[in-house]
Amino acid sequence: MASQRTLLKNGTVLSLDPKVGNFKQADVLIEGSKIAAVGPNLSAADAEVIDASNMIVMPGFIDTHRHVWEGILRNIGTDVPLEGPSAYLAVVLNVLAPVYRPEDAYAGDLVGLLGAIDAGITTILDWSHIQATREHADAVIRALQESGMRAVFAYGYPWWKYPDEHQDDWIRDVAKQYFSSRDQLLTFGIASPGPEFIPFEFAKAQWELGRELDAHITVHVGVGTAGQHGKLAEMGKAGLLKDDTTYIHCTTLSDDEIQMIVDTGGTFSLACPVEMMMGHGMPPTQRFLDRGLRPSLSIDVETNVPNDMFTQMRSVISLQHALLFDQKLQGKDNVPTPLTTRDLLEFATIEGARANGLADKTGSLTPGKEADIVMIRTDDINLYPSNHAIGTVVSAADVRNIDTVIIGGRVRKFRGRMAGVNMDNFRKMADESRAYLFTKAGYKLDIFSKSG
Ligand SMILES: [Zn+2]
Repeated sequence: MASQRTLLKNGTVLSLDPKVGNFKQADVLIEGSKIAAVGPNLSAADAEVIDASNMIVMPGFIDTHRHVWEGILRNIGTDVPLEGPSAYLAVVLNVLAPVYRPEDAYAGDLVGLLGAIDAGITTILDWSHIQATREHADAVIRALQESGMRAVFAYGYPWWKYPDEHQDDWIRDVAKQYFSSRDQLLTFGIASPGPEFIPFEFAKAQWELGRELDAHITVHVGVGTAGQHGKLAEMGKAGLLKDDTTYIHCTTLSDDEIQMIVDTGGTFSLACPVEMMMGHGMPPTQRFLDRGLRPSLSIDVETNVPNDMFTQMRSVISLQHALLFDQKLQGKDNVPTPLTTRDLLEFATIEGARANGLADKTGSLTPGKEADIVMIRTDDINLYPSNHAIGTVVSAADVRNIDTVIIGGRVRKFRGRMAGVNMDNFRKMADESRAYLFTKAGYKLDIFSKSG
């Protein structure tokens, strides 16, 4: 049976693949789950045609690290930092996370994932350190499967009960049950707290297990005060840093530690709004760019920041420009080059694919890659007239302009509406889970920060 074909017709196409190019007006042909062709005036007589005029057609956004199970906890921490009493680590990870049942992990994940697809994100790395029981992993993986998202399920040991004698058996079991094939929407990873938060020997054992299971490794390093003690350098000196690892934040690492990441072929996940708002330290964008490593972007926690990549791109470019122009005004020489909007769009797409270990599958509109595509409506009141395609996406567009989202050839959002999502059921699931979690944890909701 021939694969189903879909033709996205007459859009402004940003392939973000230098060999394919960008087009003021062109078409994208999808065959089954893959991109078959990109170019002007494609003909495909048997294809279903989707009108893409007044649209920017581009690769879907890629989020390289998010604690997706926190979807139920949206915005509870917008006025609290990472460290300190009543702060994120103390409340979210030590009070709320321990009462999560498998159904709460499912609900939190589904809320976060559907919100991400609505915002044009087509691949996410789910930093899933909510695995209190073996059933928690089943619940999270079910949410990932039902959402239709392309994802790295990064298995994480629970923060509040580490070490746990069962975890290594569970993770082997999960790998065997769900990840024997790479030819699917879900791939496998390890979410390691890393040597700043657990003893060196445990961190080392976790990375070795990840490598035994061929899992992508992601680790939080250089996080606030915890990152200032040279722990990553110890891992580096032990020969544990390799090109299968993504390093998140890196805000308080030393320059030598950043150089170690670059020299060993690692990738970098920047969560700029969280890092600026919550006290992780100064986002180290320039320190990586100076060494030739381009960042990927990540939303991290919906407890504190919004779930879209527009906020990410604008935060990173604004901060980098502010710091550089300030240096110029102070009369400094050899100030680095300011990032462009095209750089940011690449960070949010192809660099994300690279960091998630999926550059062969997604991140650009390249024939042969999976059809992970976003269409952005440019004739809306906030974007019309669109005079610069990349600038429109990076500097002006927002979630309301995400018209269509396609993941692996399947349409998940169309003409501004999520496909197959019943909002009454969605809200009921979120309400029930939230009520249980807050009651069980004795957490008092403080919606106006009266105590803050
Ligand atoms: Zn994180």
